[in-house]
Amino acid sequence: MREINVLKDKVASFPKSSGVYLMKDATQKVIYVGKANDLKSRVASYFTGRDTRPMAPFLMARVHDIEFMVTATQKEALILENNLIKRYHPRYNVTLRDDKTYYHLSLDPAEKFPRLQLVRKRLNDDALYFGPYPSGMAAKETLHFVQQIFPLRSCRNRNFQLRSRPCLEHQIGRCFAPCKGLINEETYRKLVQGAVSFLQGRSRKLISELKRQMDEASNDLNYEEAALLRDRIEALEHVLEKQNVDWGDTTDQDVVGLYTQDDKCQLCIFFVRGGKLLGSKSFIPLKIRADISEIVSSCLTQYYDNKVIIPDEIIIPCHLTDEEVIIEWMTEKKKEKIALTVPSTGTKNALLDMANANARSLWEAANKKEEQKSTALQILQEKLLLTKLPRRMECYDISNIGGKHAVGSMVTFQDGEPDKNNYRRFRIKTMEEPDDYAMMYEMLSRRFTVEGNPPDLVVVDGGKGHLNIALSVLKDLKIKTDVIGLAKEERNIISVRNRIKKKAGKSEDRVYLPGRKDAIYLSAWPQALRLLQQLRDEAHRFALSYHHQLKQNDYMSSILDDIADVGPTRRKILLKHFGSVKRIKEASLGELQKVPGFGTSLAKKIYSHLKSKSEHHDLI
Ligand code: SF4
Repeated sequence: MREINVLKDKVASFPKSSGVYLMKDATQKVIYVGKANDLKSRVASYFTGRDTRPMAPFLMARVHDIEFMVTATQKEALILENNLIKRYHPRYNVTLRDDKTYYHLSLDPAEKFPRLQLVRKRLNDDALYFGPYPSGMAAKETLHFVQQIFPLRSCRNRNFQLRSRPCLEHQIGRCFAPCKGLINEETYRKLVQGAVSFLQGRSRKLISELKRQMDEASNDLNYEEAALLRDRIEALEHVLEKQNVDWGDTTDQDVVGLYTQDDKCQLCIFFVRGGKLLGSKSFIPLKIRADISEIVSSCLTQYYDNKVIIPDEIIIPCHLTDEEVIIEWMTEKKKEKIALTVPSTGTKNALLDMANANARSLWEAANKKEEQKSTALQILQEKLLLTKLPRRMECYDISNIGGKHAVGSMVTFQDGEPDKNNYRRFRIKTMEEPDDYAMMYEMLSRRFTVEGNPPDLVVVDGGKGHLNIALSVLKDLKIKTDVIGLAKEERNIISVRNRIKKKAGKSEDRVYLPGRKDAIYLSAWPQALRLLQQLRDEAHRFALSYHHQLKQNDYMSSILDDIADVGPTRRKILLKHFGSVKRIKEASLGELQKVPGFGTSLAKKIYSHLKSKSEHHDLI
């Protein structure tokens, strides 16, 4: 820590207004971001011992510099603090991370005839997002159900614009064919509103509204419409019956469950809509010595800052020091008053108990997983005769087809878990021939020449040959660390002509160690073998995805090369925005116009170019 008096003097000149302070370590890395109503007295409290939070002494032992930013209001300080935490991921702040990939359904209300689609990523656009759904299957089931009751179109925008007649979806009664004007915009909007209400969990309100519409249709002697509405109501009531947890309250609520032990904490959120428990979301357990109020505060500001539905009420396990400013911020975001409730009795308390119990179960499961990972690492050290516990492992793989688009990948596992911030990919520069060994040599040389800092264990995808390459690179660069080769299992080969099954070798992954002729088999220690396989498969997936990306870029160049204004940078932006060449080709004019930095005229150029190419392709 810098001379304490120097810091105290600096803080003495801080203003007594609201704002955000940033604490930095000796390397100028931001290690903590906090907000305050009175910057001067808040930051001074760190030096007087008035800050009794468990992490305060650890933080103060590392602080080298403190800076501040003044804000006009406390709410601005809250927003700025949140943005800075997202930007710097400071070590002593609570940072929420999803524990798995959650799926969402999305719908863009700005479209004339919106479609509902399943998406993996929330974009920062004006579309509505529903979920999160814990698996693709759960999201697909919901999508399927919604489309049965509210037959919104399912086709992509480009197909929608280019259709010459309605597709099969219309024939089987799952779409009213807006593509050919068989439903007007107003009626379609009602379907959209129904789907949105259902997905927001407002089924009860939706049923009352549909009943009103049914009565109206019936009074107007429009029996066909009334029958359609009746079927829709029955289907919704059936779903409501199936949701067996009913808390009686019709308010939309989120419940923040929390479990802490030692310096670890697990959070989860329950979503209760119209009295029904619709689902939950959890996060990776936090390893932090923060107090409960700060953890809950950070959870609220970080989670609800994303484009998620803010309910009428959020049930939380404790009162927060910044409760009022959080309510003000959320109310402004939702454009309706919201409440933060800390219950002590009754139904809300029972819900909170349930969410807390769920957080505890998640914590126990995560703890067990951590124990298994630690056992696997110990087995690897023992059986592979490693000099160190392989807490940080790097695995390398090569991907190419006949030497073309050759790439290499490096993935890192820290304590048995993927550490995606430390993945690297390499474009092989020196080889055009399919020579795996030379490519591996190039990749490893570049990795260890530039970055040094070897992991505890280097794993190369391959057998003895690949292992020897890795050993020679490390020897050339005078780097000492453990290295192994992991060769994939040799599968049974079946001759198609005479249907004879030949066994090519022992059907199991083999591990090659330096200076040892025979491979080692780890099948007797499945948890250790699984960890190595997971590492190798991740390296393979990562290399392959880069290889595909290069191929796509090449293909993109070939289909967009006649447009003068679309160079490599714009091609990259297009690919990033749409995710694949197929989607770019299917994009509508409106979608192309939404690409950041692409104006109307450029979007039109690209659209008509792609259209003419696809028409040409259709002709030949
Ligand atoms: S009928 Fe028309 S609008 Fe409906 S899914 Fe098919 S192409 Fe799309």
